[in-house]
Amino acid sequence: MSRTFSLGGIHPKDKKISADTPITDFPPVEIAYISMSQHLGAPSEPIVAKGDMVKCGQLIGKSSGFISANIHSPFTGTVLSVEPYPDLSGNMVTHVIIKTQEDEWIEGTDTSPALVKEIKLTKEQILKRIAECGVIGLGGAAFPTHIKLSPPPGKKADILIINGAECEPYLTSDYRLMLERGEEVLTGARIMMKALGVDKAVVGIEENKPLAVERLKSLVDNEYKEIKVVVLKKRYPQGGEKQLIDAITGRRVPSMGLPIDVGVVVQNVGTAYAVYEAVQKNKPLTDGIVTITGDSLSEQKNFRLRAGTPFQQIIDHIGGFPEEAVKIISGGPLMGKAVSKLGAATVKSTSGLLFLTAKETLREEENNCIRCAKCVEACPMGLEPYLLNKLARASRMDDLEENSVQDCIECGCCMYTCPSHIPLLDTIRGAKASVLRIMRSRSKK
Ligand code: SF4
Ligand code: SF4
Repeated sequence: MSRTFSLGGIHPKDKKISADTPITDFPPVEIAYISMSQHLGAPSEPIVAKGDMVKCGQLIGKSSGFISANIHSPFTGTVLSVEPYPDLSGNMVTHVIIKTQEDEWIEGTDTSPALVKEIKLTKEQILKRIAECGVIGLGGAAFPTHIKLSPPPGKKADILIINGAECEPYLTSDYRLMLERGEEVLTGARIMMKALGVDKAVVGIEENKPLAVERLKSLVDNEYKEIKVVVLKKRYPQGGEKQLIDAITGRRVPSMGLPIDVGVVVQNVGTAYAVYEAVQKNKPLTDGIVTITGDSLSEQKNFRLRAGTPFQQIIDHIGGFPEEAVKIISGGPLMGKAVSKLGAATVKSTSGLLFLTAKETLREEENNCIRCAKCVEACPMGLEPYLLNKLARASRMDDLEENSVQDCIECGCCMYTCPSHIPLLDTIRGAKASVLRIMRSRSKK
């Protein structure tokens, strides 16, 4: 019987219309824009300057703090400048801008497709390599992977969960990776098991991906016997760390706690693949699988696409902005971010570009709350969204904290279910950011 998490959740249409499209390489662009803020934590420190020649895989941005990550060039070429440039929301962020030429990889990188299964590095060498190669979580949070694989003193993991839920509608990049690169993903899981010193790993996949379940099950049955594949019911937000841990282990991560507090580390399928490439191929993380999708597109795509590729170039490549589309989302429709600058470029963790039509973006007129409690039923964190919305609108910060706004995972289930079309996520997200700021400044005193 398929498992699922115990609280809340919704069942949006999955719309995986790009599921049958194999992964293809997106062609290199002429000018690339490499952001120095591609991860959670401190931005990277650029270590190249105008006029420098760089090769594919060369370090161009150095990790600059405990929570930070290295950034490598996805292209070979000449640095045109290092300057502030807008990200997808229009925020000015330091970028290394490169005029590209034919690919040439730094020495020591294995770019061949040959599968390397034997893990020769020690635990310490694995962690060092993952950090050096700038691997970050590709499931959304972009948290540096080497830190997640190094539990703090007193904390110990006993299980690794590989997140193959991909519960957001439309996205199919993880699905295609599981189908096309299953052995690399499982080898990546094995590497992370070694780094964590755990003997159990589970890949959680939703039941709407039967071919991925079949593929990985046949691999684990034959060769990767220490890894289990668990089929999950289709339910959003199953891919949320806390929901996935609940679904697979029944453990509940405490308020403001981390998965490691209950002995679990969760890594996404894409991250497992990036770990494989870093450790077995000495290949830094410079690209990812990106789903290009939407009802208005004549062709759906799953590209292997390098960080630093401007959104406009992707639009040009697929034949221009579709006539019926009015908005582009980076990521899925529920947790993704609207792209407001088409000149902005992709980052390592870009997972999808979704083109939405006017009908899909239409926001119904907001009405008064009718106290139906549908938002409460849908909230996977057990919060009371109608109340948080009311408190947020009255700027009652103490009450918001008391009612755990800080635990909101910004999944949007509340807003999705509200019959009064109240923009609950927008108000709650803003309030959460303010409360977290207050909590952080209080803890510094
Ligand atoms: S966005 Fe926050 S409040 Fe709304 S359902 Fe998700 S976790 Fe609950
Ligand atoms: S779902 Fe909307 S209308 Fe119903 S209680 Fe929540 S906020 Fe009010």
